[in-house]
Amino acid sequence: IFHSLRPKVPLPPPSQPLSLTSFTLSLLTTSTTTKDLDSTTVLIDSTTGNRVSYSLFLHQIHSLAFSLKSIPSLSLSKGQTAFILCPASLHVPVVYLALLSLGITISPANPLSSDSEIAHQVRLSQPVIAFASTSTAKKLPGNLPTIIVDSPQFLSMLDRNDRDDNVVSRVEEVSQSDPAAILYSSGTTGRVKGVLLTHRNLIALLAGFYALRLEEKKNEEEDIQPVSLFSLPLFHVFGFFMLLRAISMGETLVLMERFDFQAMLRAVEKYRVTYMPVSPPLVVALTKSELVEKYDLSSLRLLGCGGAPLGKETAEKFNAKFPNAEIVQGYGLTETGGGASRMIDPDESKRYNSVGRLSENMEAKIVDPETGEALPPGQRGELWLRGPTVMPGYVGDDKATAETLTSDGWLKTGDLCYFDSDGMLYIVDRLKELIKYKAYQVPPAELEHILLTNPNIADAAVVPYPDEEAGQIPMAYIVRKPGSSLTEAQVIDFVAKQVAPYKKIRRVAFINSIPKSPAGKILRRELISLALSSPSSK
Ligand code: AMP
Repeated sequence: IFHSLRPKVPLPPPSQPLSLTSFTLSLLTTSTTTKDLDSTTVLIDSTTGNRVSYSLFLHQIHSLAFSLKSIPSLSLSKGQTAFILCPASLHVPVVYLALLSLGITISPANPLSSDSEIAHQVRLSQPVIAFASTSTAKKLPGNLPTIIVDSPQFLSMLDRNDRDDNVVSRVEEVSQSDPAAILYSSGTTGRVKGVLLTHRNLIALLAGFYALRLEEKKNEEEDIQPVSLFSLPLFHVFGFFMLLRAISMGETLVLMERFDFQAMLRAVEKYRVTYMPVSPPLVVALTKSELVEKYDLSSLRLLGCGGAPLGKETAEKFNAKFPNAEIVQGYGLTETGGGASRMIDPDESKRYNSVGRLSENMEAKIVDPETGEALPPGQRGELWLRGPTVMPGYVGDDKATAETLTSDGWLKTGDLCYFDSDGMLYIVDRLKELIKYKAYQVPPAELEHILLTNPNIADAAVVPYPDEEAGQIPMAYIVRKPGSSLTEAQVIDFVAKQVAPYKKIRRVAFINSIPKSPAGKILRRELISLALSSPSSK
């Protein structure tokens, strides 16, 4: 067993009632004065330039919690779930923290999802209420009560001078073991599942990041307000957690409703952004684009990169082009609430290809996938993780939970990894089916399911194909029905109509039969090798 080399971080006693909201805000208020809260900006909308101070933000969270509690027709209570289908805006963090303070489980989803993807997610999380924008609300099932966050009614819910905070604190206390969030991931195999994370999971993660920040603070010479720019989606575990982290530390966050490279560069210049959590395609774009020269990006100090592998060459090119900014890599899964390992100092960040050392309070094993034996440093095997941030399971799916979590609490990541003798972790390959297009999850099983509904397709398999810009693209191997003359364009179009844009099939090859094991499992490795050996196989 590999143990974290970072100092152990004390966590609140598990039996102490504590919501993620209370914990986040208590970290914030221990390190800031009331005067700071009035004068410090928490959120900036990069499109409109609108700002919210910490004081106003706290008022909005408490007002919204009070408003939600005082609508008798809603009668929201602890343990229920709210589905959130909102593009990033100043209101989204308020919605998250208000609901979490009431013990309502939040389930944020990608606003680009297709209607059928949303219907599947709603079936998994069983919400009693939804939060959406005017543009996304029509994608939700008609019978789900929905609050529109860009409506005047919602704005009035955020500003309740008549609010009575006792109403909120009188509701049942939130236990740390209560569910906090249901996020969506396909895990190691199959279709999208709902990953349940408890308040405790996220409190433990936040406590680790916060402890480290105190260390950093001691060493900080410059006294500048940290400003992070979020081009990451707030519904994915990476953006969701980074949001909580920044709030707990009293930082300023610039949000982008829609990702646009040039708008991002403009925002870095305008708001003197110091930090950006990013995924690798953005680092690639920064190293390649000439637009970068047009903007003053000298304020950038740090890029935290995760979600997919970052090539050594890209990291080196970035360092050469931006000598004042450092890239630190982190690694995690939705199932670990994010950050299972990360780099924290300049020495670690020079270890290209590595994803840093295990996070505080985390344990790991490298397991031989054939024998199940635990392997020593230097040897490759499947990474298993155990610690307080690991999910208790997938909602309503005991089978998938049992396949992913062992009875003694190990999470099988499906990633092929090794540790070196210094405790640095390296991700070598993905053993699981999952494809990552620009760090977004594309579950092959879902696309195969759709392909098989096409009357011209006898069999199909979807595998990752390497792509410099996106990391990987989904490629389909298709067995046509006898007599069919189905074309590549028809296959691509058929799937594109039914899925979010990032899940589109982007390459097609026709084949006589899909290689399968005697048990009928698709031999994906064979197809991947075939794809790589015949680059013109279109
Ligand atoms: P998600 O649940 O969407 O965060 O996806 C988790 C998966 O993304 C991991 O199991 C890895 O396969 C991959 N991943 C995340 N971070 C990294 C990283 N820094 N390097 C390589 N792969 C990563």
